[in-house]
Amino acid sequence: MNKSLSIIVPCFNEDSVVEASYRRMKAVMDSLQRPTELIFINDGSTDDTYDLLRGIAAKDQQVKLISFSRNFGHQKAVTAGINHCTSEMAVIIDADLQDPPELIPDMIRTMEKSEAQVVYCVRKARKGEGFFKKLSSKIFYRMLNFFSEVKLPLDTGDFRLIDKNIIHEFNKMHEKGKYIRGLVSWVGFKQVPYYYEREPRFAGKTKYPFSKMLKLATTSLLYFSTKPLRLATTLGFIAVIFSLGLAVWSILGKILGFTHADPGWTSLFVLIIFFGGVQLLTIGIVGAYVGNLFDEIKNRPEYIIQEKQNFNNQKEDVQ
Ligand code: UDP
Ligand code: MG
Repeated sequence: MNKSLSIIVPCFNEDSVVEASYRRMKAVMDSLQRPTELIFINDGSTDDTYDLLRGIAAKDQQVKLISFSRNFGHQKAVTAGINHCTSEMAVIIDADLQDPPELIPDMIRTMEKSEAQVVYCVRKARKGEGFFKKLSSKIFYRMLNFFSEVKLPLDTGDFRLIDKNIIHEFNKMHEKGKYIRGLVSWVGFKQVPYYYEREPRFAGKTKYPFSKMLKLATTSLLYFSTKPLRLATTLGFIAVIFSLGLAVWSILGKILGFTHADPGWTSLFVLIIFFGGVQLLTIGIVGAYVGNLFDEIKNRPEYIIQEKQNFNNQKEDVQ
């Protein structure tokens, strides 16, 4: 029997796309000769997404719906999808059809042919996305690889096919700050790339404003590297060497007479700003790690489910 497949789709205010997404994903599911399920996660949408998804799930038992009590963010929504999937493989895909669902059969073939546990999709081109978004993500992923202790493939998102080994290992991870694409790379096994062209958004606007992008970037940096902490030490060290050099220079200058007696305020001013900057930066870096430690120690649930539909053959299951 062919392996079963779950398709995990996080949705936040996607009422202009969910029906088209469902139709295209359903067509792909029908073409695959294997058991399939479509898991939609409604991440606290405030538009009609919830009603539309409920309507779809009421008509189609293959569609499962998890609805959060509020917006917890894309990574939490995908986490909930992985936590709830019972298949032998899962695809993580956005609701906005930027990642074409029609590629799924070929991704499965690639996985089977190369006997891999992960097929991660690499963007050859990104249509319909702004210059700033493309540039910032290009720079960011390269920087992240410099800092990170695990090598993360470049130009990839969460669009990928993972098998049950990865699902099993992922479900054992209890950290609250989840950077999913990083965690999947971290697990290891055989991971192969799959090149594709990213389409423009089918409809609606991006749900990743700059603030959310920054949060994802910070999580990935802080959870995948302690290098920023070491950077703080390096900066402190440079500052100390610099100030020692300056001290030696001014003492010698005074003895040998190549500096003026009154040093003026410029050098003082520069030094104060320099040390102030280094100290604030270091405190900031340490603070970021401490903040995350605090979040982890509080041990709150990662997300809160208000309602589930079509799980365990029950029509509705309110937590
Ligand atoms: N998303 C979500 N919660 C959020 C933000 C986004 O579930 O808080 C979903 C969104 O509905 C979409 C996917 O995450 O299915 C990717 O978001 P988007 O397409 O807006 O990001 P972009 O492609 O612009 O980076
Ligand atoms: Mg998108």
